[in-house]
Amino acid sequence: MGQLDNKVALVTGGTNGIGAAAVRGLVAEGARVVFTGGNAEAADRICADTGALFVRHRVQDAEGWQEVSDTIRSRMGRLDIAFANAGINDGDSDIESVELDAWKRIVDVNLTGSMLTCKHAIALMKDNPEGSGGSIILNSSMNGILALAGDVTYSTTKGALRLLAKSVAVHCAHKKLNIRCNSIHPGVIETPLIQGAIAGAPDPDAARAMLENVAAVGRLGRCEEVVALLVYLASDNAQFVTGAELVIDGGATAGLPGV
Ligand code: NAP
Repeated sequence: MGQLDNKVALVTGGTNGIGAAAVRGLVAEGARVVFTGGNAEAADRICADTGALFVRHRVQDAEGWQEVSDTIRSRMGRLDIAFANAGINDGDSDIESVELDAWKRIVDVNLTGSMLTCKHAIALMKDNPEGSGGSIILNSSMNGILALAGDVTYSTTKGALRLLAKSVAVHCAHKKLNIRCNSIHPGVIETPLIQGAIAGAPDPDAARAMLENVAAVGRLGRCEEVVALLVYLASDNAQFVTGAELVIDGGATAGLPGV
């Protein structure tokens, strides 16, 4: 018996990193999963391994959401879990140097994309056969709590997701929709992105040590650890958890470093 038997989940940005681990982890707990992204080759591998269903879609593409919703309705007949995971920071910079185009692109994906995920997830969850219900989880970051000087757009969008989750949560509660919404705040997680950044640094060992020491516990987080929190929030064990922000960062935001 899985913790998510008979549930259907949507994962945005499920082709790589935390999103790909989420697809695998949700399937392992018994959910049927639809995921989105751009990399069809990576998606094919995940579909072959898990039986999940891929829809090629950019999360900020408002018109394209119709196809995502139609696919979930016609192929799955319901939606119980939505993980708004797609996120980027490439091209970001500090407030003095950030280019308007980069700002708009990152806001579009990280913030507008998550808003559209909530909107469409709620519409589907309201129509569930036995009545309205579901769980929405927004993948923010510890940088939604502690800002990065060199990533002003990423920090701003990830901070905004905290209040997007809370606004959605209280709206759904007031409307008695039985739909919960929470944000999660991972620290530095060892995804291919982070592995690439370490490998590409002038001194990879020093880069790894620096990133490990961001967390009070002195190590990087694992995708599977984030997925375990996701599974809990998606499950019926979290029925009373809504509008919450859950850090999963090895203590990175708990205190001043080294003091
Ligand atoms: P990643 O390895 O770069 O994966 C990003 C995923 O998002 C890919 O599957 C990518 O799909 C997809 N994606 C990118 N732009 C998209 C768009 N416009 N529409 C739909 N999908 C899109 O990143 P990650 O490290 O796993 O990060 C995933 C999320 O976790 C992000 O929101 C990130 O901010 C958050 N996070 C990560 C960390 C960390 O340490 N890694 C820490 C805190 C929070 P394609 O490549 O197929 O386009």
